[in-house]
Amino acid sequence: MAVPTFASLSLDAALMQAIKELGFTRPTPIQTDSIPPAREGRDVLACAQTGSGKTAAFLLPILHRMLAGKAGATRALIVVPTRELCLQVLETAQALSVHTSLTSAAIYGGVGMGPQEHAFRTKVDLMVATPGRLLDHMSKSYASLAGVQHLVLDEADRMLDMGFLPDIKRILSHIPAKKQVLLFSATMPNAIVQLSKELLKDAAQINLERKSAPAAGITQALYPVAQDLKPALFVKLLERGDMKEALVFTRTKHRANRLFELLEKHGVAAARIHGNRSQSARVAALDGFKNGSIRVLVATDVAARGIDVADLGHVVNFDVPAQPEDYIHRVGRTGRAEATGDAFTFVSPEEEADVRAIEKAVGRRLPRVTLPDFDYTTKTAQVFEVPIAERIKEIRARKAADRQRSAEKAARKAGNAAPAVRGSSSSSGSSSGAARRPAAPARPAGAARPAADGAGAARPPAGDGSGPRRSRGGSGRSGGGGRSGGGSPYAD
Ligand code: AMP
Repeated sequence: MAVPTFASLSLDAALMQAIKELGFTRPTPIQTDSIPPAREGRDVLACAQTGSGKTAAFLLPILHRMLAGKAGATRALIVVPTRELCLQVLETAQALSVHTSLTSAAIYGGVGMGPQEHAFRTKVDLMVATPGRLLDHMSKSYASLAGVQHLVLDEADRMLDMGFLPDIKRILSHIPAKKQVLLFSATMPNAIVQLSKELLKDAAQINLERKSAPAAGITQALYPVAQDLKPALFVKLLERGDMKEALVFTRTKHRANRLFELLEKHGVAAARIHGNRSQSARVAALDGFKNGSIRVLVATDVAARGIDVADLGHVVNFDVPAQPEDYIHRVGRTGRAEATGDAFTFVSPEEEADVRAIEKAVGRRLPRVTLPDFDYTTKTAQVFEVPIAERIKEIRARKAADRQRSAEKAARKAGNAAPAVRGSSSSSGSSSGAARRPAAPARPAGAARPAADGAGAARPPAGDGSGPRRSRGGSGRSGGGGRSGGGSPYAD
């Protein structure tokens, strides 16, 4: 069979120019299969993971069709589960449409509504959106999706996992019934098959038979190890030079924080992203990882959706993912367009059952690896995970100390304001009285609202003026971003 080329896909010359500039020499399999039917206007149901080139697979045919059509309304809507993915898809859309007059914007939570309102008012051609924030806008008079002709649900399985199905149905009620629908999903659970039956008509079905196989080229291995020794094993793998850089997944935000602290202690350039981190912190962490200044990026699964780091060598599952689909999602990240990578999974005895489910899903037994120069019998004195009861106790103590401090401050102030009783009141009565009734409840250290500084750092990767810009405040409701963070069922 002839090797597929971009030339054979008959795309607009402006898009071909961008493809060339991006250094894409030939289409990936998902692009070869999806672009022709989608370019003809057909619906597509595709099983594709991050790293397969799926984003260009749905963007290119849509951009091609929009170039042939008439501007004047938002004609393409791409719905994604997380802010990170939202920004990445926008970045790809802007890179691919750089030689055209098509405009695009990202709509996601955790940042101000204003610049996004502008995107609606100026009727950008293409919108990438998280469901919650999009619906926030749809309740306003300026927002309309009545001109949408192309709808993409990207990482549809994840959106369903995150409970977005009712939101997706509400979004659909704002879009014309007659439209092209492209549904991309890393896995094809029954809920997706059901949704596709409701949404798609005569769809081209791509890769469905490969629904549970991680991308080719990935070397997967299991590292059986006691729970307590996981941190030491990870440090050992870094020290041995087995991993130049790594994206590491932990089960909870707390474990992500603890691993991050441990790595810092060992002098490893590390960063973390999870639902409690502000948008600016997440963007900074991702940027650092991409430009190589960060060697290890620690992430919880939800926060890490959509991470795309070119040439990423290693994914480490510090904890075994509870769902086989999560394993495939994460591991899929290393098999990106042609590159090969390794996926290591640390397995404690209590996680063996989850591993068996994963092996069943990928259809083979994964190799077990033992490091010859690592002491698997050593007892560690360090507690990695602080029990939740202790963490709560610590937070309570901190809050009490904060209250005490503000009470004392209030008492001092009161003493200054009433010089007649100064001296006697400041040392006795008022201090304890104010401690019972502090002027305002003190916020514990580190409990600053993520939306506040998150809003400040949001920026479209290549601004056309319509995407989110620097703004203060954030929305009252956290929208898509909020859901992918603290409220998520995956977060601790
Ligand atoms: P995605 O699966 O969309 O997240 O894409 C994964 C990575 O592959 C991104 O860094 C893309 O820029 C890159 N990519 C997409 N298509 C191609 C292609 N045809 N050739 C080389 N790289 C590609």
